Amino acid sequence: MAALVVVFSPLPRLRSLLQRCWGRLERGFLSGFSVGQSPPWGPALAVQAPAFFPEPPSDTRESNEAPSLLDSILWMAAPKKRRTIEVNRCRRRNPNKLIKVKRNIDVCPECGNLKQKHVLCGYCYAKVKAETRLIRMEIHKKEGGPFNAPTIETVILYDGEKPTEKDEGKRIIERARKRPSWFVQN
Ligand code: ZN
Repeated sequence: MAALVVVFSPLPRLRSLLQRCWGRLERGFLSGFSVGQSPPWGPALAVQAPAFFPEPPSDTRESNEAPSLLDSILWMAAPKKRRTIEVNRCRRRNPNKLIKVKRNIDVCPECGNLKQKHVLCGYCYAKVKAETRLIRMEIHKKEGGPFNAPTIETVILYDGEKPTEKDEGKRIIERARKRPSWFVQN
């Protein structure tokens, strides 16, 4: 910390007062340093560098002189020539880099949304997922906890459906809604 006060005062008395104050301040500073609590202030250079900076393995040169500033700098690659915007755009808009146009888009036969030909319809999948989650909640309610699953088959019955003789001996899960069109009864 250092302060420099330049005073151009037209009043000689005020100027002399300021000079006396400044001299007293300076003397106070110097006496404080001479006692030795803190070193005197001086210019310093701070360089930010990685802490894992590798040391040179063997210093064959006579290294009596202090390491210079250039030794403590991590040099990185930098382009030597500026590439023009045309060159950059040719590279960025290269046909190899563009997203391919998809031509395998189809209409979902169930819901009518667009989907890719070889993948499941996302809308239908979400519907099936939600219904399956509700069925699993019903099963969880019936079982009363994990590891209680019986070793028999499970039949899902929706509103207005009665268990047939085929379903005898099977676990029956009932759902209080109409059977969805995609959930066929077997
Ligand atoms: Zn669909």
